[in-house]
Amino acid sequence: MQPTFSLMVHGGAGTLEAADDSVVASRYLDALRAVLEHGRTLLAAGVSALDTVERCAALLEDDPLFNAGRGSVLTAEGRIEMDAALMDGRNLAAGAVATVRNIANPVKLARRVLDEGTTVLYVAEGAMRFARKQGFAECPEIDLITEARRQELASLTDAVRYSPPDKLGTIGVVARDLTGNVAAATSTGGRTGKPAGRVGDSPIIGAGTWADNTSCALSCTGNGEDFMRTALARTAAAFVELQGLTAAEAVARTLEYLEARVNGLGGLILIDHAGRCAAGFNTPRMIHGWIEHGGEIHCRL
Ligand code: ASP
Repeated sequence: MQPTFSLMVHGGAGTLEAADDSVVASRYLDALRAVLEHGRTLLAAGVSALDTVERCAALLEDDPLFNAGRGSVLTAEGRIEMDAALMDGRNLAAGAVATVRNIANPVKLARRVLDEGTTVLYVAEGAMRFARKQGFAECPEIDLITEARRQELASLTDAVRYSPPDKLGTIGVVARDLTGNVAAATSTGGRTGKPAGRVGDSPIIGAGTWADNTSCALSCTGNGEDFMRTALARTAAAFVELQGLTAAEAVARTLEYLEARVNGLGGLILIDHAGRCAAGFNTPRMIHGWIEHGGEIHCRL
């Protein structure tokens, strides 16, 4: 059989009422399609899964529509604190950063952490020091803040502060390349109105992000605390690795587990070692798209 590649992306799970508007919906779908097209070009040319997820995630971070990089949601104090991670399924190498501020593409910083190889997760000022040492460009926080996110924060009432299930976001990319290696990347501004210093599941390896050639690559989105308490990404991979489930079976089983154990909210995208794609969520929506075995692009809201 000819070698093929698979690629999946998500732009967050939630109520996402904005997507009821057909203009907004088509902006989301166009953005996903463009990223999938870009990823297809890379993977078809033999670029690795790890490089592909990094580059596709950076494109989604650059798009202010999504809650990552520019367009990240704001903390209770109106600041930006972003989290990101990548993982390489070949050797379980991982790199992550949390609560970073002046970085346009946190996923690229997470990649530097992975490549540097001594540390898996840097946070806050330590992450910024690492970025400076690596000669990483810093950007003014104001450049990452959009008017839409300011309004979103202002519209939160005290009653819903920090946990409105409709304000979830985050971006994620998973890929399996022509050589059969898998990789995952997740990047987020977190939750609107979150307290300073709060870290979600996205940069926690095994909670929001996971990749292992022996099982699958996956990226989660949703209420991060639920995903951390269930080590959800690693749990999903265990269903593939230890129970031999397919991508679709593992996603269904993972969501059942999330609900049964912590009544958790959110979704995930997953590509298994055979390149099969699956997505699932228990929120009204999850923005996502995929290319399975080099085939057609599919996008869903
Ligand atoms: N999981 C992210 C977090 O809790 C948020 C999201 O996916 O929307 O930080």
